[in-house]
Amino acid sequence: MSDEKDATRIVSAGRRPEWTQGIVNPPVWRASTILYDLVAELRARGAGDTHHKLFYGRRGTPTQWSLAEALNELEPGAEGTLLYPSGVAAVTTALLAVLEPGDELLLVDSAYDPTRNFANGLLKRMGITTRYYDPLIGAGIAELCSERTRAIFLESPGSLTFEVQDIPAIVAVAKQRGITTMIDNTWATPLLLPTIALGVDYSILACTKYIVGHSDVMLGSVTAGPGQYGRLRSMTYQLGQHTSPDDAWLGARGLRTMAVRLRQHGAAALQIARWLETRPEVARVLHPALPGCPGHALFVRDFKGASGLFSFVLNGGDEAARAALIDGLAHFGIGFSWGGYESLALPIDPQRHRSATRWEAEGPVVRLQIGLEDPDDLIADLAAGLDRFAAARG
Ligand SMILES: *Cc1c(COP(=O)(O)O)cnc(C)c1O
Repeated sequence: MSDEKDATRIVSAGRRPEWTQGIVNPPVWRASTILYDLVAELRARGAGDTHHKLFYGRRGTPTQWSLAEALNELEPGAEGTLLYPSGVAAVTTALLAVLEPGDELLLVDSAYDPTRNFANGLLKRMGITTRYYDPLIGAGIAELCSERTRAIFLESPGSLTFEVQDIPAIVAVAKQRGITTMIDNTWATPLLLPTIALGVDYSILACTKYIVGHSDVMLGSVTAGPGQYGRLRSMTYQLGQHTSPDDAWLGARGLRTMAVRLRQHGAAALQIARWLETRPEVARVLHPALPGCPGHALFVRDFKGASGLFSFVLNGGDEAARAALIDGLAHFGIGFSWGGYESLALPIDPQRHRSATRWEAEGPVVRLQIGLEDPDDLIADLAAGLDRFAAARG
């Protein structure tokens, strides 16, 4: 691993000459069948390790390998990275690679809802139990660990309520007991938080968000720490997980500009978060770079910066008043996902997705994805929205 800066590495990572033939953005290699000259060649290829060798389309082509290698190079110490057709597919495959019937999973209570659904659905059917834990538990996680605990799943900050977890403290407890750790690192990406270097075993990204960056591709990845790649690859092959080369190509294209985009998303979001804090219609802003956010000191200690997603709690008001705010916004779309160049506003109800902790708020909650528009225009738009909210609240 060279010691270039991330913004430099992200431009050249994964662009091996044998994969690009000199073309700047690695081109799309589409394939199902790969032809061999001789039977002996076909047998030899299949008998050996097919890693980074054309074998059969499901094992990928240089297009997918290039993006996977680029993501791997952003995580110092990583052993290998694999791509998935969505972020959820990345989460579920990582969990299946590690867990067996009879095991227990510790899952952070602020986790992305489809991750919870998988734990409560297929994992439960397989005889794997899940215990949810407080995102602020830190080293206290030791008290929840039992003989059956096989994995601890983190997501930091949580993508609705933005509590920051003490990753090193949890990793230390896990390592002592031989428990595997995995983190959904979609919010920070390896640029703002390289988690393999912090000792986490699997770093999971919904590449759909900041890697792709243009709201037009579904994509996921899992990066494995030392000694963790083999079982991940085995499970990925067993499940037939495959990512289209066209989608990987768009992912690689997005990745090249991610450092610049993240800087803009992060600066604009923080400016808007600070402005929202001054508004009487707003009870609280949930942004890990603001001192009031639970886990803020850990954010300052571990993260290199913030990305562009945060929430705020309104001061009183109901569902209709929140809708009055969101419906009239000119520059914020109403929709799921985030990480694209366009701003989004989403009504969220975090208390519905909790089981181990209570989450209470002074009013309805709105999550904002801050895009690449000029923040002054976004602030003017939100100011008008807060006026509509106040009028509707009465
Ligand atoms: C969107 C998201 C995912 C899932 O990604 P998809 O590509 O939409 O399947 C996982 N984790 C977090 C935190 C997300 O925001």
